[in-house]
Order: sequence, then C-alpha cells, then structure tokens
Amino acid sequence: MVVGTVKRSEKANRGVELIPASAEVVARAEVPLPLGVVDKVGADLNTRLDHRVLDLRKPAVRAIFELRTVMLAGCRDAFLRRGFLEVATPKLLRQGAEGGATLFAVDYFDGRAYLAQSPQLYKQMLIGAGFERVFEIAPAFRAEPSDTVRHVTEFSSLDAEVGFIDSVEDVRAILEGVVVDTFRFARPELERRGNAYADRIPEPTTPFPRVSFAQCMEWLGRPGSETDLGTEDEKAIGEHVEREYGAPLYFITDFPTAIKAGTFYAQRQDANPRLTYYFDLDFKGLEIASGGAREHRVDRLRQNIETAGLDPENFAGYLEAFRFGMPPHGGWGLGVDRMVQVVAGLSNIREAILFPRDRYRLEP
Ligand code: ATP
Ligand code: MG
Repeated sequence: MVVGTVKRSEKANRGVELIPASAEVVARAEVPLPLGVVDKVGADLNTRLDHRVLDLRKPAVRAIFELRTVMLAGCRDAFLRRGFLEVATPKLLRQGAEGGATLFAVDYFDGRAYLAQSPQLYKQMLIGAGFERVFEIAPAFRAEPSDTVRHVTEFSSLDAEVGFIDSVEDVRAILEGVVVDTFRFARPELERRGNAYADRIPEPTTPFPRVSFAQCMEWLGRPGSETDLGTEDEKAIGEHVEREYGAPLYFITDFPTAIKAGTFYAQRQDANPRLTYYFDLDFKGLEIASGGAREHRVDRLRQNIETAGLDPENFAGYLEAFRFGMPPHGGWGLGVDRMVQVVAGLSNIREAILFPRDRYRLEP
C-alpha cells in the first residue's frame, strides 16, 4: 500500500507519476510468480487461465471486463426504456428445452435434474402470465463436447421474449434496437473511462441487412440446400454481406424447418411450412444470437413436440401456459460472452469470461 502525491510528469507513460510518502507491506507475495506481471512475451492462454487471478490483474485484461460491464449496463438500460421486466427463471430443470444431447444431468436428492440450456420454456410461460416483455441475463449450461474458440460449457445468455407481435419482424426490430442502443451507450462511457475498447464499438445503422437462408445457400454454391450453417459457411456469408452491404451486423432469416425440427417451439411459416420464422443475428461471420416467432397455438405446438420425437406429457407444465390463452410472441437468445468476444476482437471466447468452463476446465 503506497500513499503519496500524484504529479503530472512528461516522462511517465501515462502522464502522471506517484511520489510516495509512505509504503507498507500488507501481504507478502510468493516468488517466483507463475505469470509475469507485465507479461511482455505473452503467455499462452492456457497458462493464463491456470493462473487467472494474476492474469486478471493486468490492465489490458481488466479492460475486457470493464467493456463487458458497460455493455451489459447498456443492454439493461435499453430494455428498461422499452418496458421490459427483468426476470430470473430456474436453472435446475426436470426437462431440457430441446433434445438431450447437450444436457448436463445432476443428482437431485433421490432423482435427477438437468441444468438449463436456456430459459426458453420459462420465458414463453411468462408471456402466458401476461408479462408482455421480459428479459433475462443468466448462465446457460451446455455439454458441448467440441473444443472451439466460441463455445464453453457455461455461458451467459441474454434472452428476451415479447408478446402480441404482429410478425417476427417486430422481434428483429427490438433486437437491433437493443444492440444499437447498447453500442451508443457503451462508446462514450468507455471513452470517459479511458478504455481503449471504446474505438472498437461499432456504429451500425438500422435496419441491419436481412439476408434469407436461401440467399446464403446461393452464395455458398449450394442452392436449395437445407443443411445447417457451419463455421466456414458463416465466415463466407459474413464476407458476402461485407461486400454487398458493408455492414458488420446482419440477420440471416427464414431458416428451413428441416434444420429446426428439434426446435419444436419455432413457428413454421403459414405460406410455406418448409420454412420457419427463425433467424440468426451474425457479427462479421459469427453467430451471436438466434431467435424467431414461436408457435403459440397449443395443438400445433403439441404436434411439433411429437414430430421432434419428444413426449408432450413431459412438457405438461409448459403446455398448460398455452391452454388458457397465449398471444403470438417471439424472442431471442444472445450469447453475452460471444458479443464481448467479437466487439473486443478476441480470438477465444474464454478471454471474455472471468473463469471459463469447458470440457477440460473446471478450475480455477
Ligand atoms: P452455435 O451454432 O454457435 O453452436 P447455437 O445455435 O447452438 O450456437 P443457440 O441455441 O442459438 O446456439 O443459442 C443462442 C446464442 O447463445 C448463440 O447465438 C450464441 O451466441 C450463444 N451460445 C450458444 N451456445 C454457446 C456456447 N456453448 N458457448 C458460448 N455461447 C453460446
Ligand atoms: Mg443458434
């Protein structure tokens, strides 16, 4: 602990220096340090994560979490001004929202429970409760077996759901509005704090381009294909959009039903049931959010559950919310860590998370 006077200085890196009057050792550090304080060489990410507390002390690393704080504050502000309620839905579930592949099972007294992959079913149930606009920022858990730079097993999901929509376009308009307001909030706030990420905050104009899934398939040279987009596909689409629209953020719309078969709550298009009203929001070739209009008609919803190979009996609590009046509604789930990753230009999502979790890492 050093007490002293701050003085302007031409020679000092940051233009000021501290002239100490007294110094006291409050806690002695062990030597050698497992990780350099200045770290000019740049330790590899695994070493940094193994000693994350020391790593987080570096101002450049801390700046990422200041960016994250400011962006989340911007999101909350954008939701509040749009009349949303912030909700907290359970993370211990009897059933997952979708198939079981990425569910984590946990012992639950004499039985078993699952960690929530998303708040999907609960935010829809709240629409049935008359909460017309809800959002949640909370952890989501997915047993992702693959080791990628954009997946972790515990991520922070920003979810929203809106009732009484006229069409899925209402959902996209709110999402792009929240994103743009978040950026507008974040830039001056980061500038005020002298955070270097201020310059990386995009200034997109609305509406974001909307490109259909079918159009993307033509760009990719697979016209008519109904197979899901891979990482390389998303990258290539990002380059096409950059050339045609010069826009960093864009929607990919009208995902085929074939891809969303397991997503039983995704509404199929009235005029063409081979397509859904589902979309992705991508940032320069990387998906950051998925959303769409939901199926609100209980008979069709039950049918979709069966078609997905699931048993409607297991969704009794969810379906009850639909049996007593459910308006047309829609929403999205956005990966907070991914959004921080792409805005900050980090090569690995783990850098945007204080203590990341993946298949091989449960510590520290
Ligand atoms: P991906 O295709 O990238 O695996 P997804 O389509 O399976 O993602 P969704 O169910 O659409 O994921 O989830 C909504 C958002 O949550 C995604 O757009 C992404 O930003 C984020 N997300 C999903 N899974 C993960 C994960 N394992 N780690 C970090 N973020 C994730
Ligand atoms: Mg998705």
